Amino acid sequence: MGQVVSERPIGGNGSGPGMNGHGGGAIRSYAPATGELLGEAPNTSAEEVRAAVARARRAQEAWGALPVEERCQRVLRFRDAIVDRTDEIVDLLSRECGKPRHEALLHEVLVAADMATYFAQVAPKALEPHEIKLHLFKHRRSWVHYVPRGVVGVISPWNFPFQLALRDVLSAIVAGNAAVLKPSEVTPLIALKQKEIWDGAGMPEDLFQVVTGYGPTGAALIDSGIQMLLFTGSVGTGRKVAAACGERLIPCVMELGGKAPLIACADADIERTAQAIVFGGFANAGQVCVAVERVYAHREIHDRLLERTVEITKGLNQGDPGKEFVDVGAIIFPPQIDVAERHIKDAVDKGATVKAGGKRAPGQGQFFEPTVLAGCDHAMTVMTEEIFGPVVPFMQVATEEEAIRLANESHLGLNAYVFSEDTDHARRLAERLQAGSVLVNDVLMNGALPDAPFGGVKQSGFGRVMGEDGLRQMCDVKHINADRIALGSKDPTWFPYTASSYSWFKRGMRALFSSGSFLRRIGELF
Ligand code: NAD
Repeated sequence: MGQVVSERPIGGNGSGPGMNGHGGGAIRSYAPATGELLGEAPNTSAEEVRAAVARARRAQEAWGALPVEERCQRVLRFRDAIVDRTDEIVDLLSRECGKPRHEALLHEVLVAADMATYFAQVAPKALEPHEIKLHLFKHRRSWVHYVPRGVVGVISPWNFPFQLALRDVLSAIVAGNAAVLKPSEVTPLIALKQKEIWDGAGMPEDLFQVVTGYGPTGAALIDSGIQMLLFTGSVGTGRKVAAACGERLIPCVMELGGKAPLIACADADIERTAQAIVFGGFANAGQVCVAVERVYAHREIHDRLLERTVEITKGLNQGDPGKEFVDVGAIIFPPQIDVAERHIKDAVDKGATVKAGGKRAPGQGQFFEPTVLAGCDHAMTVMTEEIFGPVVPFMQVATEEEAIRLANESHLGLNAYVFSEDTDHARRLAERLQAGSVLVNDVLMNGALPDAPFGGVKQSGFGRVMGEDGLRQMCDVKHINADRIALGSKDPTWFPYTASSYSWFKRGMRALFSSGSFLRRIGELF
């Protein structure tokens, strides 16, 4: 097995080298697949974070004043620079995250390029001021304007370090804000690469800043005078981050963990469902917030589906993505393997069977075999807690009702999946699932749909990113109201308050808001 893969402290973000909030020293980044030291990044202090935010604020003033079309054109230049440097980014992603090159290309670089394109295409229309038709006070007119908030803080995780960070950074920037990114301490080099590409593309240098560091650097970002925070990470950290934002009354979006259920109905296409379970469970070695984390298979197809899933799983090619084209790469750091082992042991102790995988893979680096468990139920943690590793537990259900009930029996609600040949029927089941997104006959792909809102319910978080609403959310909503018809020197509702004006308004209210006939309501006035 590999040696050290990261110096991120195990089990939290409160102690360890450089963890006292004063910064200093450096973060070392290691390749999960080989244990090789890849490089170092600064451990940014609270003071340096504040200085970065102050620089970003100054840069934002000019940027926010540009027409949105101009901002979009410039963001597309940055997108072009990303596309031009695809190989270099893919290479670093596969080394620093241990992810297969296909996934680095398709799930990170391509998705980021598409998001930049989408935001640039829709922003001019989505952020245009528009008039609201007032239903009662017709003598006035109202408009809604979208005003950049200022500096948006982005705190991101390690599992999709390229696209998740840019999703938030670019939507903030297109909307006229500056962005300061605190990337995961496990993948700092990718974030520094993003900054290098940004600067190299001639973008305003201070508008996008990267402050690498551990948890305290993230905490310092929240405390540095930012106007909004976009956080993506675990439920535990999200709780602390949301509390810190609440303390400072900073609006925040929380993109947290998931425990996506997949319901396989009796009429599901077995081959597609099995392929989807394997892809949805083992892409990025299962380290995906929307990974298939539990399967509820109808008893009529359970055995055939399980058998085919196991067969496909056993055919996966796992290894060092730096050396060859592999299907499944490495696990980011040792605690993720410990978590997978703990869930598997708990499940097996309570009667589950390991049908494929189940253990660390031999050789250099951090690898865990893609694992399929059968005979699982909700007494096992593998069905109820986020695994975030390559483990897919199966549970047989007698009815769809049972599957829906169990799928909803979770404190998390990010994604859910329904497989059935009857798409309309599956959509009706989807409506009953407690999740931010439900996909019918597909998995994972909504993470790559910038057109649609993305986010969770329950402890999977709150707020939405992506889609036109996601863009608008990067702005303060300003309402401007002006006169259409001037009412003279003063309005009738202003001072003085008299008995006769009170009586007149009361009759007017009854005429407007009672349910009688038109004539009766008019009669109220006299
Ligand atoms: P994490 O919560 O450990 O860390 C996330 C980020 O928060 C890191 O940058 C970390 O340095 C920072 N951080 C830690 N303590 C902090 C503090 N006190 N104040 C401010 N920032 C702090 O998560 P992770 O292990 O990097 O990522 C995995 C988790 O992220 C999983 O639970 C996964 O489901 C979730 N995730 C969610 C989504 C989504 O869109 N909902 C996407 C990807 C990952």
